[in-house]
Amino acid sequence: TSLFQSAPSAPLDPIMRLFEAFHQETRPDKINLVVGVYTDAQGRVPVLRAVQEAERAWIDQARPKQYRPIEGTAGFRSGVQRLLFGENTAVLQAKRAATLQSVGGTGALKIGADVLKQLLPDAIVAVSDPSWENHRALFEAAGFTVRSYPYYDATRQDVRADAMLDALRGLPRGSIVVLHACCHNPTGNDLDPAQWRAVVDACVQGGLVPFVDMAYQGFGDGLEEDALAARLFAEAGVDFLVASSFSKSFSLYGERIGALTLVSSDPGTIGRAEALAKRLVRTNYSNPPTHGAAIVEAVLQTPALYDAWTEELAGMRHRIHDMRTRLVQALDAQDLGRGFSAITRQKGMFSYSGLTPTQAEALRARHGIYALDTGRICVAALNPGNLPRVVDAIADVVR
Ligand code: PMP
Repeated sequence: TSLFQSAPSAPLDPIMRLFEAFHQETRPDKINLVVGVYTDAQGRVPVLRAVQEAERAWIDQARPKQYRPIEGTAGFRSGVQRLLFGENTAVLQAKRAATLQSVGGTGALKIGADVLKQLLPDAIVAVSDPSWENHRALFEAAGFTVRSYPYYDATRQDVRADAMLDALRGLPRGSIVVLHACCHNPTGNDLDPAQWRAVVDACVQGGLVPFVDMAYQGFGDGLEEDALAARLFAEAGVDFLVASSFSKSFSLYGERIGALTLVSSDPGTIGRAEALAKRLVRTNYSNPPTHGAAIVEAVLQTPALYDAWTEELAGMRHRIHDMRTRLVQALDAQDLGRGFSAITRQKGMFSYSGLTPTQAEALRARHGIYALDTGRICVAALNPGNLPRVVDAIADVVR
């Protein structure tokens, strides 16, 4: 018998399962509301203008395809830090932060988890209830026990900030708390600034280690606004980690580009933190890929490209918000016995629509429209062309 006979059956998570089912779906008018991918008004994944220009310039230079530094290039790293913390802020001046290029936001979470496992082998990891499916799996794969903290109230369709704070206060010192910086996945419901301050305070008081997952910077209220959590932790002077993803904000999904930023309460130790992370990268995949990082670096470091990028990013943000408004208007016009206005208060690509698992199943079976059983839909995949069908289909399964 084969060695692999005894491989444990490892089912895909629901997102990847439905993603594959969608690709096998034969109805030509199928609609994918499963994965977090932004499509434009014509339903295409955009190649941003700034990205195209940076790519063209990169190719024109015909640079040799050398190995890159384990941690990425200096220009990439400083660009990411500026995006996270702002120009010349105290945390950067004090040299308390180290940034490493990563294989997407997921790679940043994994390297960060491996760093933490070395330093806090017995720590509990707490993730929001609910959270992105991969959070629990990833931290468990890194060897941690994962718990959840209350986050979402389905009845009020809002954040349960008080219950969340109570849970954080109950965690043992040295626990790791995974926080969604903005555009909470899957609910779309974010903490407001006052609630963030309370969360930061609870983490500081409780000696917790925050791991800020920032996969959607620029899709919530804006690049600066969406960085609030990272900036508050930086001001608080604690040790924490940030996983940045540029998959969505640069529309570079398949390039697998992100960054891990380690922030130390003591500048004297940041070199050790970086060395440990580099060691973990070295024994994983040795050094990171070039293309996505070269593009992101060029955009972040070239003022004209940066301006073009922020403008287009704002355009994506506004288009999603517009689709939320239109979705709610169209659903409310159907008189379905419940209101949908909570969807317009949500931020980012996702929305907890309130659809039940049975309704989500019916949406797939009867209409070829794919949404998660939790009712999470990707609002960023809606456009004026597919919205009427989505609305009619939702109305059909809800009635
Ligand atoms: N964290 C969250 C909350 C996400 O939604 C995602 C993307 N779905 C990621 C991390 C990972 O992003 P990437 O594709 O860059 O690995």
